[in-house]
Amino acid sequence: MAFEKLREGLQGAINNLKKAVVVDKKVVRDYLKQVQKALLSADVNVKLVVDLSKKVEDRALLEKPPGMLSRKENLIKITYDELTSLLGNGGELVMQDGMTMMLVGVQGSGKTTTAAKLAAFYKKKGLNVRLICADTFRPAAYTQLQQLAKEISVPFYGETEEKDTLKIIQNGFKHFKSKGFTIIDSEGRHKLDTGLMEQINMISKEVSPDRTLLVLDGTIGQTAGEQAQAFNDSCSINGIIISKLDGSAKGGGSISACATTNSPVNFIGVGEHIADLEVFEPVRFVGRLLGMGDIEGLLEKAKEVDFDEAAAKRMLSGKFNLEDVYQQIQQMQSMGSMDKLMEMMPFGAKIPKDLVAMQQDKIEKFKFVMDSMTTQEKEDPSIVKRERIERIAQGAGTDSSDVRDLLNYYKRMKKMMKGAGGGKKLNRMIKQFGMG
Ligand code: GDP
Ligand code: MG
Repeated sequence: MAFEKLREGLQGAINNLKKAVVVDKKVVRDYLKQVQKALLSADVNVKLVVDLSKKVEDRALLEKPPGMLSRKENLIKITYDELTSLLGNGGELVMQDGMTMMLVGVQGSGKTTTAAKLAAFYKKKGLNVRLICADTFRPAAYTQLQQLAKEISVPFYGETEEKDTLKIIQNGFKHFKSKGFTIIDSEGRHKLDTGLMEQINMISKEVSPDRTLLVLDGTIGQTAGEQAQAFNDSCSINGIIISKLDGSAKGGGSISACATTNSPVNFIGVGEHIADLEVFEPVRFVGRLLGMGDIEGLLEKAKEVDFDEAAAKRMLSGKFNLEDVYQQIQQMQSMGSMDKLMEMMPFGAKIPKDLVAMQQDKIEKFKFVMDSMTTQEKEDPSIVKRERIERIAQGAGTDSSDVRDLLNYYKRMKKMMKGAGGGKKLNRMIKQFGMG
């Protein structure tokens, strides 16, 4: 696996962090040292690693954890955030029939192989894909792509005698009469020479492909960044494909170096076979490195709890009905942590513990109770006296004490909201909650 070592290193750091009792400066630093080590051994540039750890450290020590996250969990989430942003915005390129994609890059970077991989990838998506070989520089290029195209049953066009690549491409478009998605495998040179750039620029102008992607050899590590920059400067590329990341310990270097050039890495090549192409999505990629299960859980917990604005407004104004209260009870249950709840509620500190830690079966009963109440009763529970209580309990199949408990709960809430004071203070609160 391409990033197995990096994954092990990062997850090792996380596992050690989990054992820590408190999150103080020392714990954060020890954790970051391990993260740094993992990144450096994956060839990520030292400066990028230092910048990243500084950012993570600052945020971990200063930020208030969002949502329900503990400080420890937030440290992992921050690592995830920063690693993701280090790797830029990649992701799938959506193409369609009628469009053209041109691959550029130096010789041996993996263009021809990648052209076939991409053809198979987009064919699977239902596109009418065809391949054009526009490499007249390398004698074997024609047969190489022709064979690959045959292997994946994709129409192929190329010419063995013609030396003018532009002419070949134009003939290719004439040859394919139907509307389709065309992938052009362009020529490469031994090294980055101006001749190659001029050639690409010229073809680019004439053909105007919808996407020009640079194919880079991932085994060159950080140096990939320089190549990406050079191509970016002299001919405009839309994205990058990094090949040969299978088994290369330098994958972290090439990906992060390219990300700093502002060209997204859209795909990575992870083997010589047609299927060895992966869409590169930093978010998913980093998620996998850090442990997908962990990350998904953290992101879920990091979400700020949604308040039903209208209901919250009614609560704050003291004009709430039983349905609103019921919703509050449910919300408190799903929020789980008492401390967090106290921070969030404007008068939270005054909510008695027994109201927050209500049993689930009790809440279920409340639901039945409310179902057998009339709208009028729910709007104004004060009208619910003894006979009504009996009737409701019977209808709900619960005890009359359950009905009383719910009514009691409502009364206490009402009192609490009043206690919070109306008028200016309340208006200020409403504004503060963005509900004004
Ligand atoms: P081009 O000169 O840019 O067209 O490069 P080629 O497509 O001919 O690839 C050069 C060599 O790299 C070939 O031997 C390919 O099999 C190999 N290659 C390309 N992509 C990958 C990859 O993702 N992993 C591995 N291991 N080899 C690759
Ligand atoms: Mg080639």
